Amino acid sequence: MSFKPHGKHLIADVWIATDLTFSNAPVEGPEHSFSVGNIELVNKACEAAEEAFWSYGYSTREERAAFLNTIADEIEARAESITEIGSKETGLPVARLQGERGRTVGQLRLFANHILKGEFLDRRHDAALPDRKPLPRPDIRLIQRAIGPVAVFGASNFPLAFSTAGGDTASALAAGCPVVVKGHEAHPGTSEIIAEAIHAAITKCGIHPGVFSLVQGGAVDVGQALVRHPLIKAVGFTGSLRGGRALFDLCVSRPEPIPFFGELGSVNPMFILPEALANRGLEIAKGWAESLTMGAGQFCTNPGISVLVEGPEADAYIETAVNSLASVQAQVMLTHGIASAYRAGRDRLANTSGVREVFTSSCDQRNALPHLFVTTGQEWLSNTTLGEEVFGPLGLVVVVKDVNELLKVALSLEGQITCTLHLDEADTLTASKLLPILERKAGRILANSFPTGVEVCDAMVHGGPYPASTNFGATSVGTMAIRRFLRPVCYQNIAEELLPVDLR
Ligand code: NAP
Repeated sequence: MSFKPHGKHLIADVWIATDLTFSNAPVEGPEHSFSVGNIELVNKACEAAEEAFWSYGYSTREERAAFLNTIADEIEARAESITEIGSKETGLPVARLQGERGRTVGQLRLFANHILKGEFLDRRHDAALPDRKPLPRPDIRLIQRAIGPVAVFGASNFPLAFSTAGGDTASALAAGCPVVVKGHEAHPGTSEIIAEAIHAAITKCGIHPGVFSLVQGGAVDVGQALVRHPLIKAVGFTGSLRGGRALFDLCVSRPEPIPFFGELGSVNPMFILPEALANRGLEIAKGWAESLTMGAGQFCTNPGISVLVEGPEADAYIETAVNSLASVQAQVMLTHGIASAYRAGRDRLANTSGVREVFTSSCDQRNALPHLFVTTGQEWLSNTTLGEEVFGPLGLVVVVKDVNELLKVALSLEGQITCTLHLDEADTLTASKLLPILERKAGRILANSFPTGVEVCDAMVHGGPYPASTNFGATSVGTMAIRRFLRPVCYQNIAEELLPVDLR
């Protein structure tokens, strides 16, 4: 039977309705009404989270691992209903929702295993040296501790893997931090059913119910109140540069500033080096068109830019990309707002001097079709707006004069989540000049593949210098994501029986 949302917020143990409502505006199927969030609910959720921290923040790793695995089980138990409502609300295909659910439960189980191993605690011990001269050394130990309640913003483009029980929530709960989620308006029913799964896991595991709350969106002051709440100690966010920057600024201007882990925009440039272009240019162009249009281009790792050296091979690359894009069907975007922002981005480029539109299309309402533009290295270097993200299946080819200009384009880049090299053996010297530049620009550097598709594992970095993220040395994907919600505490001369259990 289809899941029928009731439209309430989950505040600790209680489902609460409010008077104002908003619609989930599904692509198909019946519309549902959802209670709009408000400041009173945010306050209640944060107070419950702080209360929960006094037990959950001091729980054992085994207890938290069992909780994370139970959330995963409860999500699996609702698999069909989650896929159905998720797909109707976001317009994403059923197979994508199924895959994303697998990733979401996989992340929860990965964090459960990760905390059991204990390496994340980074335990250090400098034993006492009572006979040291001229001064004795005290016993000094260090361990990572949970920071307190964390706010998580559900992302529009990953209704499961970056939303209610997504990577930010999983890593915060793994660390021992209660979570208050601000649901994204694009998929409130999906948020509700996932919150139900978490609620069921809380009951089964006998955990303080304040450990998780969901406040639905619908009003801009909900997110603002959440990041300003004095009991919130950090924020996890995926979304736009504008929204993320506004929330980041609120976090740093609080009386007690807190870290804002925002994963924002990126154009994920690909550098197709001369030998690879000559040997495999057409194959790379086809692959690029596929990667660029996957999921209507609504990925933070979407490779929006190709950089290559001018010549007949560059022309053939562009022609092949155009031919491949021509066969792509219209795809539904996540929201009407995102579809109109996509068209505005296309219009901005179409009206930029020095930029040529080589593949055009026409789509309306909530649909997207691809667009392809071409510019020169010189234009790129003189116009910083060309590096701004257009969220959707839009590509820009930057044709440079030579390898020197290619290196200048790399140097001019803002922070990126990824940068990709396509190279063959004869490109090694150029790559060795490019790599030190790209290391300073991106969180992840790839060779001979495409950046869409992010492996959730120990060595993953999903972040990068601003504006790719506001994270300094952090990642929002992979086990290292837990570090965002931990703080080192040093214990000097503290008796064994008073130390945290993990440090004894
Ligand atoms: P968004 O507009 O940044 O919103 C994300 C979340 O932040 C929502 O919950 C939103 O709340 C909240 N928010 C935004 N601005 C706020 C403010 N000034 N004060 C308080 N809360 C605020 O992102 P989106 O809705 O996902 O999509 C819009 C655009 O974001 C897209 O067109 C795309 O350009 C970009 N985007 C980029 C990525 C990426 O990974 N690079 C991913 C998703 C989206 P409300 O909804 O209640 O306002």
